[in-house]
Amino acid sequence: MVEMDVLVSLCKRRGFIYQSSEIYGGINGFWDFGPVGCELKRRIKDSWWKRMVQTRDDVVGIDTSIVAHPQTWIASGHVASFNDPMVDCKACKRRFRADDVPASEDGSTGHICPECGGELTEAREFNLMFQTHVGATADNASVAYLRPETCQSIFTQFKNVQMSGRMKVPFGIAQIGKAFRNEITPRNFIFRSREFEQMEMEFFCHPSESDKWYEYWISYRFEWFKNIGVKPEGLRLRPHEHRELAHYAKGCTDVEYKMPFGWSEMEGIANRSDYDLGNHMRESGKDLTYFDEGRKEKFLPYVVETSVGVDRTALAVLCDAYREEEVKGEKRVVMGFHPSVAPVQVGVLPLSGKLAEPAKKLEIDVRRHFVSEYDDAGSIGKRYRRHDEIGTPFCVTYDFESENDHAVTVRDRDTMAQDRIAIEKVVEYLRDKFAFSK
Ligand code: ATP
Repeated sequence: MVEMDVLVSLCKRRGFIYQSSEIYGGINGFWDFGPVGCELKRRIKDSWWKRMVQTRDDVVGIDTSIVAHPQTWIASGHVASFNDPMVDCKACKRRFRADDVPASEDGSTGHICPECGGELTEAREFNLMFQTHVGATADNASVAYLRPETCQSIFTQFKNVQMSGRMKVPFGIAQIGKAFRNEITPRNFIFRSREFEQMEMEFFCHPSESDKWYEYWISYRFEWFKNIGVKPEGLRLRPHEHRELAHYAKGCTDVEYKMPFGWSEMEGIANRSDYDLGNHMRESGKDLTYFDEGRKEKFLPYVVETSVGVDRTALAVLCDAYREEEVKGEKRVVMGFHPSVAPVQVGVLPLSGKLAEPAKKLEIDVRRHFVSEYDDAGSIGKRYRRHDEIGTPFCVTYDFESENDHAVTVRDRDTMAQDRIAIEKVVEYLRDKFAFSK
C-alpha cells in the first residue's frame, strides 16, 4: 500500500492536488485540485450522477445555495449540537480533538500535548460550522452559516421538488456540492479537510418500506465503488452498532476503504426515519406530509440517505490505483485507474515536433470519442512515464513510419504491450479495449 507522503508528492508533481495558497505558506485543511486532479474529481462526480440520477427514473437532481436560512440549522440540530469536544495545549497553543489525544494510563483523556508534552485544557465543545454574515451589518441578526452538509436543503425543498416534478413517493432527490466544517484537526491529506464536496441522495418512502430501501441502497452504493474500479478487497461494509446510532436513526452502514492509515469511512447509508422532515415541519410550520393516491393515506415520508465525499472517494481511487513495478532495473510508477475515472483516457504523442500536424489531426478525431490529450513535451520516454503516473490507459504514438504505413503504435499502460494499428481503425480499436474493461 502506498505511503501517504509518496502519494502527496506524486499528486503535486503531476498536477492532481496542491496545497491551497501554497505561495503564502498554505492554509491548513484546504486543498486545490490541479488540471489532472480536477478531471479525476469531475469524472467521479459524473459517474455518481449518471448512476444515481440520469439512469434512474425515481431520482431527480437539484443544486441549492451554500448559504441557507439560519433556521435550517436550528431545525436540523446543527446549531445546538454539531460539536466536537476539543482541548487546547497551554504551552504550544495547538488545538486537538479530545478523542485524538491518547488516553492516560488510568484510561482517562490524556493531559499531555501529543506535540510538545505541554499541559492541556479540559475538553470544551466546539461548533464545527463556519459562520458568516449576510448583508452589510455584522450583528446577531445577520449571522448565517456555510452549510456543513448538502442534504438539509433537499429536505427543505422536498415539497417544491415533489410538486413541480410531479414525483410520486417513493422517489429520491440528489445533490452534489461543497460543504464546510471547521474541523479541529484536519488531516490525512484530503481525507479530512475543512472544505470538501459531498454527493448526497435522500430517498423518500413510506415508513413501512424504509427497511427494504435501506438494504437496497446499501448494496447499490457498494457496487458503485466497484464500478469505478476500487478493488473489492479494499472495501467493506460496516453496520453501526446500536450504541453508535443517533436516537432517530433506524440503521446506518458505512462503506469503508482500507486507507494507508487504516479502514476509513467513505460513505454513510442511513435510515433516518421521518426525523428531518419532522424537524423542518415543526420549525417552519409548513405541512411537509405527502398524500399517497394509491394508498389513500397521508403520511410524513421516511428517508434513506446515501452520503459520500467526493474528495474521500478521490483519495481511495488514488491510493487504490498506485503501484510500483520494476522494469529493466528501473522503477515504474503507474496509476492504474479504471478507464471510467482516468483523468485522460487516451494520450496522442507525436514522436517528433515535425509530426505535429498529422498527430494533432488524429487527436481531434480521438477527442470526439474519448477524453484525450495531445502531448509533445519532452522525450517519448518521459511522456510515457508521465502518462503512466497520471494513469492514462492508452497512448497513441505517431512516428515517422506512420507517414508511410498509415498506422500508429498504441501502448497499453498496464502491460506496456505495443500494437501497430491502422490510423483509420484506431478509434474502433480503443473502443473495443474500453468496452472490455467496463
Ligand atoms: P467523520 O466521522 O469522518 O467526521 P462523518 O460521519 O461526520 O465523518 P458525515 O457527516 O456522515 O461524515 O458526512 C458524509 C460524508 O462526507 C463522509 O462519509 C465523508 O465522505 C464526507 N466528509 C465528511 N466530513 C469530511 C471532511 N472533513 N473532509 C472530507 N470529507 C468529509
